[in-house]
Amino acid sequence: MPYKWPLDTDFALWELDVLDRACPVCGLMMYICDHRYRRIHTLEGPVQLVCKLNHCPDRDCPGHARTKSPEQEATIAPPSWAIGWDVFCWIGHRRFSRHMSIPLIQSELLDDYAIKLSEDAIAKYVRRYQVMLAARQQDPEALRRQYESVDEIVLSIDGLQPEKGHETLYVVRELTQKRVWFAEALISATNDEVQRLIAQAKAWATSLNKTVSLWISDKQDAFVKGIAAEFPDVPHRYCENHFLRDLAKPVLDADSHAKVQMRRKVRGLRKIEQAVLKNQKTEESAGLAEDDPTATMTVLVGQANPPSPQADSASAVVLEYCAAVRGILNDDQGGPLHPPGLRMAEALEEVRESIQRNLDAKKGGSQRSNSADWPNALTGDWSMSKPSKSQSESMSRTSTRWPRPSNLEPRVASNAR
Ligand SMILES: [Zn+2]
Repeated sequence: MPYKWPLDTDFALWELDVLDRACPVCGLMMYICDHRYRRIHTLEGPVQLVCKLNHCPDRDCPGHARTKSPEQEATIAPPSWAIGWDVFCWIGHRRFSRHMSIPLIQSELLDDYAIKLSEDAIAKYVRRYQVMLAARQQDPEALRRQYESVDEIVLSIDGLQPEKGHETLYVVRELTQKRVWFAEALISATNDEVQRLIAQAKAWATSLNKTVSLWISDKQDAFVKGIAAEFPDVPHRYCENHFLRDLAKPVLDADSHAKVQMRRKVRGLRKIEQAVLKNQKTEESAGLAEDDPTATMTVLVGQANPPSPQADSASAVVLEYCAAVRGILNDDQGGPLHPPGLRMAEALEEVRESIQRNLDAKKGGSQRSNSADWPNALTGDWSMSKPSKSQSESMSRTSTRWPRPSNLEPRVASNAR
């Protein structure tokens, strides 16, 4: 039964490309012909996989009718599963190392990771875990049948450790047929132990009489050594997913530092808001006392402007700018490919440009320019460099969580008239 996701689920988007894009039949560069969308639970939260499917552009080539899925898809979650490997390992570990009951696993998953699975579903994954460890798939006849029409195979090895300090489940997968060949839980994985697994994969490939064209892994030391020893002539590629994850960490660290710097600079929102609100109150109580010296709109309207009905909508605009800036400062959406700090810099820049346009539009109307009244923070220079064009475009599409500064401008402009 397909998994039902709540409507407000916030999915992280993972796009997967075919790594080896040469047509297996004729060698032409393959094109993207379709996308497959999948949603899965991971221990890091819900993920939407976008799998870019490729096929050969040549209609006369047998490769045209065969679409190829991204190799990494199976390393994240096997076909049709609602959970990723990490959740799967977590469940298997809880069941077989800790002997937890299925209802207990169910409530822990929900409490600790907000993953809601039925007892049936958990029982199903537990059975699969068992089968995998028992390596029943070693049935050589069944395997031979499945690999009859396959020319080359791509192998991957990954160690999954849902929690630090516990056993690691090593899984060897064959990626063209999306099959788990075997898995083994190791408490401490020495190079020799890992090499033993790789040798086992070699024995399987030999018994199938298939050529291994590629190994994919996160290139941890034991894998590099073991694969080099057992498969000296086979290329060993970095798993893009791991590569990106390793790269993401320093990017996000730097980004978070930049965010702190920007927040330090953009301050005083509350002060502005309080001044506006206080001013509104004073006006209410004083009626329309035009000369009341306390009724000074220090923020947008300026002392030169007489308090008037305009003042109300002007202060509303100021409050909305404040809300917009606060929304920007509190927004922490975006992953390593759309770092939140870059989004923040871009959005603040939009606000600054918007305010500048307002000031330009008001010139002549009120010579005592209000720019001096704007806190420096809102008009000062940002220390971050401007994001590249493509980044800012994608951010403009996504940064919809706060009011757009440009929406505020027509109102300001009409106030100025
Ligand atoms: Zn082809």
